[in-house]
Amino acid sequence: MAIKMGTGDLAKYPFLNEAGDYLRQSGFDWEELDRPDTREILERAEERLRTAVAGNVYEKLDRYETEILTFVVTLIMVKSIGLDPVLKKYALAEARRAEKFLSEDLRRQSDAQRRALFIKIFEDLFGLKIDVTEDGRLFKVRVTDYLRRSSHFHEQEWKMINRLVQAGQVFLDADETVRLIRNELAILIINKVRGMSLPTLPNSLVERVEQMRAELTPRFEYRTQVVTEYPPCIKHALDVMNRGENLPHSARLMLATYMLAIGKPVDTIVEIFKNAPDFNERITRYQVEHLAGSKGSRTKYSVPSCEKLRAENLCFATAECDGIVNPLQFGKKRANKK
Ligand code: SF4
Repeated sequence: MAIKMGTGDLAKYPFLNEAGDYLRQSGFDWEELDRPDTREILERAEERLRTAVAGNVYEKLDRYETEILTFVVTLIMVKSIGLDPVLKKYALAEARRAEKFLSEDLRRQSDAQRRALFIKIFEDLFGLKIDVTEDGRLFKVRVTDYLRRSSHFHEQEWKMINRLVQAGQVFLDADETVRLIRNELAILIINKVRGMSLPTLPNSLVERVEQMRAELTPRFEYRTQVVTEYPPCIKHALDVMNRGENLPHSARLMLATYMLAIGKPVDTIVEIFKNAPDFNERITRYQVEHLAGSKGSRTKYSVPSCEKLRAENLCFATAECDGIVNPLQFGKKRANKK
């Protein structure tokens, strides 16, 4: 069955190859961005990127063609800025935007054409074959596909024993189906940016990119430099987190309070916890804000002392720790001694 994809679909899912085809057929030329009448595209692209860097989701979808272009221009901006943390923040925000539209569309879809579109998105991009139940209310995925993606989810509802399974297929609602591919969506955007080659850019775009790079570099380069200065206990916790393994509550508290204390924004800390097997963005954000003193008891939590961390088996001291009493002193004491 031929699938009709309208500009509205491409504006929601501009990472699809069809969006690139659409742009090529429209004859769009990068030099057009120097014209005053296309200024809005650049402005929206900058807004889209700034929204992502702030940890939020760009919501606009009022002008389909403009938004397809906005997405492509934003990819070019991120590639040109060349800062990995900016790319990761942007990819996560785009994944969350697409996730929202996919959930809504899956819930609303009713006719065969629309179903085919979503099945195509899941299968083409993520190799996930989904079927729809006859009444169109639930979705079915193969047990193997389900297990491969859900094995890192910690919540009880994802355990096979709590799922409806029939004939080798697991039944899911719309939100659950989309949740299965959340990480893959972000990786898709990251790979798209990493794999693209830059065209010759029009001056209007170069100016904006340079301005944003100058603004973002001190913020994000500083953070990457700090990574090498993390004390061993924090490095260990980050390693565990990066491997997608479970980190005990006390280690999570240490990691979050340490990151807050060195000035990391809440969004960045939430991202650090993204690989946790039981990651839930809403709960993680609340917990980090709670530790920062901006939610709940309004008490700002301190980084646990080295003594407390030793007692909790979270200390991995090296010679460089050299008598410090709190992980926050790591590096500083050595610097003072020189
Ligand atoms: S001595 Fe302190 S800073 Fe060093 S690893 Fe142990 S807890 Fe962390």
